[in-house]
Amino acid sequence: MLCRVCRRLPAPAVTLPRHGSIRRNMASDRAASQATRFDFLVIGGGSGGLAGARRASELGAATAVIESHKLGGTCVNVGCVPKKVMWNAAVHAEYLHDHSDYGFDTGNVRFSWETLKAKRDAYVSHLNRIYRNNLDKAKIQTIQGHARFTNDPEPTVEVDGRKYTAPHILIATGGLPSVLSDAEIPGANLGITSDGFFELETLPKRTVIVGAGYIAVEMAGILSTLGSKTSLIIRQTGVLRNFDSLISANCTKELQNTGIDLWKNSQVKSVCKSEKGLEVTIVTKDPEKKNDEEKTSTIQEVDCLLWAIGRQPNISGLNIGAMGVDTDERGHIIVDEFQNTSRPGIYAVGDVCGKALLTPVAIAAGRKLAHRLFEGKKDSKLDYSCIPTVVFSHPPIGTVGLTEEEAIKSRGKENVKIYKTSFTPMYHAITSRKSQCIMKLVCVGKEEKVVGLHMQGLGCDEMLQGFSVAIKMGATKADFDKTIAIHPTSSEEFVTMR
Ligand SMILES: Cc1cc2nc3c(=O)[nH]c(=O)nc-3n(C[C@H](O)[C@H](O)[C@H](O)COP(=O)(O)OP(=O)(O)OC[C@H]3O[C@@H](n4cnc5c(N)ncnc54)[C@H](O)[C@@H]3O)c2cc1C
Repeated sequence: MLCRVCRRLPAPAVTLPRHGSIRRNMASDRAASQATRFDFLVIGGGSGGLAGARRASELGAATAVIESHKLGGTCVNVGCVPKKVMWNAAVHAEYLHDHSDYGFDTGNVRFSWETLKAKRDAYVSHLNRIYRNNLDKAKIQTIQGHARFTNDPEPTVEVDGRKYTAPHILIATGGLPSVLSDAEIPGANLGITSDGFFELETLPKRTVIVGAGYIAVEMAGILSTLGSKTSLIIRQTGVLRNFDSLISANCTKELQNTGIDLWKNSQVKSVCKSEKGLEVTIVTKDPEKKNDEEKTSTIQEVDCLLWAIGRQPNISGLNIGAMGVDTDERGHIIVDEFQNTSRPGIYAVGDVCGKALLTPVAIAAGRKLAHRLFEGKKDSKLDYSCIPTVVFSHPPIGTVGLTEEEAIKSRGKENVKIYKTSFTPMYHAITSRKSQCIMKLVCVGKEEKVVGLHMQGLGCDEMLQGFSVAIKMGATKADFDKTIAIHPTSSEEFVTMR
C-alpha cells in the first residue's frame, strides 16, 4: 500500500541515529527492520479507533487498525447498538398496555426473544461487514489479533509474531465490564455481565441485577418490561447518583413504578446454584439504624444474575508500562487535553482514558487527533464540556451540562437559579398507565445563562440534541423564553417555564 503522505511503499523501519548510544541504535535498527511501518497505527477497532483511523486516512496517512475481536468495538457489538434494539423492543412492550385505551384490540400478543435476538445479531453482523468494507475502501490495513507493545526502543507493536511501527500510535482499546471474583463474593462467577446479556438465548424468568449506574438501569428496564421478574440491588438509596438529584430520585421512583423490585442499601453476600436456579443471598443495612443491624434475605430460582458494577480500562496484555505510558490508580491511560500520553508519539482516546465513556466522545476525540497529526491543525482537540447524554430507561432520561449541585459548588448558591416542572405528558391523558415527565433548567448569573438541562419522560431521548446545541452556544433563559413553543409537545415546557 502506498503511503499517501510520502507516496512511498511502507518500508521496513529505519531508525536514524538520535541521541542514544550506538549500541541502542543498532538494536533499534534490528528491531525496526523487522517491522512494517505506517504513518498511523491504531490499536482497537472500536468507536474511537475507527474514527481516528478513517479521518487520518482521508488526510493522507498510511494507516492500519489492529482489532482483536470484532470491528465496531463495544458500541456495535455489546453496547449502544444492540442495547437500543432491545430498548426499542421494550418500548413496544410498554405501549401494548396502552393499545386498548387508544381503541386497538390487539388480542393475544406473543413475544419471541429468539426472533428479536436473531434479527438483532444479524443487524450487528451487517454492521461488522460495513465497518470492514469501509476500512478496505479507505485502504486502511486491518490487522486481526491482539496487539502488544514490544520492548524495542522505538514504539513497536507485535501481533501474532509480526511487528508493526509508526511515528504515531493510537491506543483506543476501550473498556470491559468490571467483575468480582469468587474470593470477593462466593459464587460471583455464576453471574454474567452486560456482555453476557447480549448472549442470552431466552428471556430469563427471574433476573437479579446488581448496580446503580446507567447500564444497570437500562438492562433492568429492558428485562422487566419484556416480562422478566427483575430485582435491582443497589448499595445506597437511589440509582444514577452522579446525575442531577432530581433525575436520580425520579428514575429510582420510575423503576419501582414499572414493577422492578428495588433493594436499597443492599449488597450481594453470596451466590449458589440449586436445582431450580441460582440463590442470591443479600444483606440489607438500614442506614437509619445506628446499631449496624443487617437483614439477610435470599432471592430464589434466579435464572439470570447480572453484574453491572462499572467498567474498567482494557489494557491487559498491552505492555504499556514498558512503554512509559502512565496510567492512573484504576489503570486508565493518562492523557493531556490533546490526547497525548506520557510517551511522545503514543496517544489514547475513548473509554481507555476513563473520561465521558460515550461513543460520540471517543469518535470526536479520534477525529480531532487525526486533524492535529495529519493536517497540521495544532490546536485540534476535543472540548469535553457540555456533553449531552441519554439513559434509555423507561421513560428515557436526557441530560446535558451541570447538575444543580455542580452549579452551586462552582458558582455559589446565590448565583444559581433553578426552573423545574413536572407533568403528565398528553400521551397519557387517555391511558390508564401513567408516567411523569420531569424537567429542570440550571441557570447561572444575572443573565441566567443555561448551564444544565435535565429531564426524564416520554420523548426526552430525542428532545435533548437540539437543546444541547443551544446550551453549547451559550443560550440564556431569555433565549429559551423568546422561542415559540411547539404545541402540543412535552418539549414546549422548556420554553414556557416560569
Ligand atoms: C451496555 C452498554 C451500553 C452502552 N450504551 C451507550 C449508548 O447508548 N450511547 C453511548 O454513547 N455509549 C454507550 N456505551 C459506551 C460506548 O460503547 C463506549 O463509550 C464506546 O464504545 C467506547 O469506544 P472506544 O473506541 O473507546 O472503545 P471500544 O468501542 O470498546 O473499542 C475498543 C476495541 O479495542 C479492541 N482491543 C482491546 N484491546 C486490544 C488489543 N490489545 N489489541 C487489539 N484490539 C484490542 C477491542 O476488542 C474493541 O473492539 C455503552 C456501553 C455499554 C457497555
